[in-house]
Amino acid sequence: MKFDNSYARLPQRFYVRQSPVAVANPDLIRVNRPLAEYLGIDTGWLESEAGVQVIGGNRLPDGADPIATVYAGHQFGSWNPRLGDGRAILLGEVIAADDQRYDIQLKGSGLTPFSRGGDGRAPLGPILREYIVSEAMAALGIPTSRTLAAVTTGESVYREQKLAGGVLARVAKSHIRIGTLQFFASVNDNDGLKLLVEHVIARHYPEHIEAENSALALLQQVMHRQASLIARWQGTGFIHGVMNTDNMLLSGETIDHGPCAFMDVYDSAAVYSSIDHGGRYAYRNQPAIAHWNLACLAQTLMPLLAPAAEAAGEIAQQTLDEFPALYLQEYLGVLRHKLGLSTAQQDDETLIPDFLDLLESNRCDFTLAFRRLSELAAGDAPAQPLFEFPESFRPWLTRWRERCTRESINATQRHAQMTTINPALIPRNHLVEAAIERAYADDYSLFHRLTERLTRPFDYAPGDADLATPPQPDQIVRQTFCGT
Ligand code: AMP
Ligand code: MG
Repeated sequence: MKFDNSYARLPQRFYVRQSPVAVANPDLIRVNRPLAEYLGIDTGWLESEAGVQVIGGNRLPDGADPIATVYAGHQFGSWNPRLGDGRAILLGEVIAADDQRYDIQLKGSGLTPFSRGGDGRAPLGPILREYIVSEAMAALGIPTSRTLAAVTTGESVYREQKLAGGVLARVAKSHIRIGTLQFFASVNDNDGLKLLVEHVIARHYPEHIEAENSALALLQQVMHRQASLIARWQGTGFIHGVMNTDNMLLSGETIDHGPCAFMDVYDSAAVYSSIDHGGRYAYRNQPAIAHWNLACLAQTLMPLLAPAAEAAGEIAQQTLDEFPALYLQEYLGVLRHKLGLSTAQQDDETLIPDFLDLLESNRCDFTLAFRRLSELAAGDAPAQPLFEFPESFRPWLTRWRERCTRESINATQRHAQMTTINPALIPRNHLVEAAIERAYADDYSLFHRLTERLTRPFDYAPGDADLATPPQPDQIVRQTFCGT
């Protein structure tokens, strides 16, 4: 790995220099070869004993400058002044073929000064969940952190029960969170705040490097990326589960695939996380929570937005007030794409919610319903579809067909467009759980099949039926655990 560590060149108070803590016996689970190649990392080396020792944290790669970064955050609405990397180590940054900088971080890599009461470790289950889901999301075209590799540690971790431990090598454009800025704002470190804003702009928004008001430019750009990201989550039925401000990256990528899940049956109130008792992070709340998190971001940037507090407050408020319209525009764009529409028309704003209402009242599978629409658009739908619309959809389908005639694209183009956004395969929660359960019993076959197959979520072959079909009633997984 060819490292260039810009974050470690920031002042000492941004992190603590800390090496990963060695594990007993790291054993390779999987290497993500396409991602390794993209990052310019030799896959042969990564899969070798030397590479596995690096992922396990037993050996430092040349050029790494390992650190645990400091951050704070609002967790379920409550302020926590000091979080930080309690079980993660940033090894460094590599520059990929596209000239883009990527963090290589180990998760589950042992105690750091930010571990608080934790053990710095991760059980195998959450490692495998993050691997499957992050890579599936990337293939679905959703901005997300990625997974480079995962290993077992040969050590046990103790939660409600004794579990095998694992380490995940995570890749992201950066790990800088809303909570990172919140930390500096909360200790009145205006110089630190300013430095971090400059760092983030140079790294993620270089086109705004000359902006007159860089804090405002940052707020606006992060807002745009969040609007686009959440619209894509909503468009695939993804529920993050822990949208705390420390889990929201300024780069606009999804991070911390903890208790997340894709829903099967469309249920706008769906919540999976075992710790989300009030449903704060339910599916339908995600856009409003993103807005809330952005308000926290605006709050931290206040000292930089304008010299006088009152003027800064006005700028912050005006900017934040643009979010709902911005989000709606992104969301309608995603949903139009899913319905095979390429122009914006007035009645879309009833056509779309009416479809979702029907899905909800008929308890239809979200993914397969959109996939079925894509098939209907082609006119040569398979004889044995995975899903068929109930009778009650007939009037809506007539409206949709009429709406499609008011488009310039033809049926073939529409079908092609729809199959690039309506997947046949998502990481179904019951399959993710089954893959984890079997892996604990040392059978990784389902994990490998899922990770492999989900790299092509838009292709469907009859041999995939067991991966594409929703769970039977006895297979439904109602709760997910973040495994901390
Ligand atoms: P998360 O829920 O993964 O976003 O983590 C929230 C905070 O708890 C972060 O500061 C983590 O570093 C910390 N944390 C989570 N799990 C552990 C663990 N097993 N040991 C130490 N710190 C942890
Ligand atoms: Mg986190």
